[in-house]
Order: sequence, then C-alpha cells, then structure tokens
Amino acid sequence: MRSTLWIACCLLLFAACKKSETTPPERIVPDQPETPVAIPATPEMTAQLAKADAKDGAVDKVVHRCAGCNLGMDGKALFPLAVGEYTMHFCKPKCLELFRKDAQKELLALKIPD
Ligand SMILES: [Zn+2]
Repeated sequence: MRSTLWIACCLLLFAACKKSETTPPERIVPDQPETPVAIPATPEMTAQLAKADAKDGAVDKVVHRCAGCNLGMDGKALFPLAVGEYTMHFCKPKCLELFRKDAQKELLALKIPD
C-alpha cells in the first residue's frame, strides 16, 4: 500500500518535472523586409536616370520625382525601385508597378523636360 503511494508520488513529480522541461517555443524571427532587387540598367537607362535625378534638384542617385507621372509628382520613399545604381521613388504602387514590370521601356519612353 505504501509503495503504491510512493510510485504515485514519483509519477506526479515526474509529470511536474516533464512539464517544466518543455522547450520554450522557438523564437519567431520576424520576416525580413523584402530586399529590393536592383533592375540592371543599360547605359541608355542610366543616362535617363541621371537626367531625372538632376531634375529633382539634388544629384544623389535618388530620383525623387515620380517617373510614373513623368516626374510631375513627388515620389515617396515608401515606393522605391532600384535601377542600376539609382533608386527611384514613386508616388503610388501603380506607378512603381509600371516600372518594375518594364523599367527599360518606361525609362526610355520618359520625356524629361529640359
Ligand atoms: Zn506617380
């Protein structure tokens, strides 16, 4: 009778021990923000980008004006697209998507006012 109690006690302890030994849940690593993949730029595209970059008043390899709006709108850092060594900012996802799909065609078609 005594031994059964002892065994029961042991089992209880074992269970309690087992419970505390459960491995902590795996640390959830937040998803890395999508690293923008640079679209390769041809010399013609780079020339257009340089012109567009100069147009916003600061030659910093960032085209601040939205190329999707023919540089008529200010772009936002929220909608960036890396083309060659330049970063283009767009005013809205639609403009960004346009260039992401075919940056070469869109860039070369861009009429940059002198
Ligand atoms: Zn736009």
